[in-house]
Amino acid sequence: MSTDPTEAGSGPAPTAAAATSAATSAAAAAEAPGRVAVIVPAAGKGERLGPGTPKALRELGGLPLLVHAVRTLVAARSVDVVVVAAPPNPQGLAEVQRLLADLPGDTRVVAGGRTRQESVALALAALPADCDVVLVHDAARALTPVDVVEAVVAAVRGGAGAVIPVVPVTDTVKAVDGDLVSATVDRSTLRAVQTPQGFTRDVLAKAHAASDPSLPATDDAGLVEALGLPVRTVPGHAEAFKITTPFDLVLAEAVLRRRR
Ligand code: C5P
Repeated sequence: MSTDPTEAGSGPAPTAAAATSAATSAAAAAEAPGRVAVIVPAAGKGERLGPGTPKALRELGGLPLLVHAVRTLVAARSVDVVVVAAPPNPQGLAEVQRLLADLPGDTRVVAGGRTRQESVALALAALPADCDVVLVHDAARALTPVDVVEAVVAAVRGGAGAVIPVVPVTDTVKAVDGDLVSATVDRSTLRAVQTPQGFTRDVLAKAHAASDPSLPATDDAGLVEALGLPVRTVPGHAEAFKITTPFDLVLAEAVLRRRR
């Protein structure tokens, strides 16, 4: 017989009350939802916006796009942790760290990668273990309303493995071959996709693990679709548009002025 006092059964017999309490807390731990993390890929150069500072650090109304985006995320009641994938050079990393230090909430920085997909994968690998819902949100969608963030989290908590905010397409969309039209796509079945996209951690991790880094996807839901798993839509918002071109910045300044 073992004399090791740390071995099970060798200590004093647990009381019935202690056993009940341990069972209750184990059940609660099994049922309690984990925390919600948001990954913000912000490591892109943003060349379509013109040469200069990385896009996430371009200013809108006197503040970098990234600050606008992260402010909204930390203001969302459902969000616990924000992990930003920063430009992977010493200046980029230091600048993002400095910007986040001034914001409330649990914000963290990791070095981003060569593609958006790699930046998301690097942030995913750095998430705290107790986060079971993960959103991915482009810093360039700096003016996304907080309600869109909450709706995406609610849909994941409601049982969807992958959730994307979408808006109807208002233009007629045609496929082209050079300068010739090859087809007109039925607009009624099309949606423009925004972020944040939300996932159970399990689904997002599986999707990234199965992805081919040499064929980077433009969004994370695409990786989930490639696995044959369902992706649910929720209504997005016109103000969640991606700031990509100089014209988008003009539009964003106007939205910001109207809010103020
Ligand atoms: O280039 P695009 O507009 O699709 O980038 C979407 C988001 O992905 C941007 O917020 C950008 O900073 C980010 N990104 C990244 N790492 C890269 C390239 C893009 O985090 N290597």
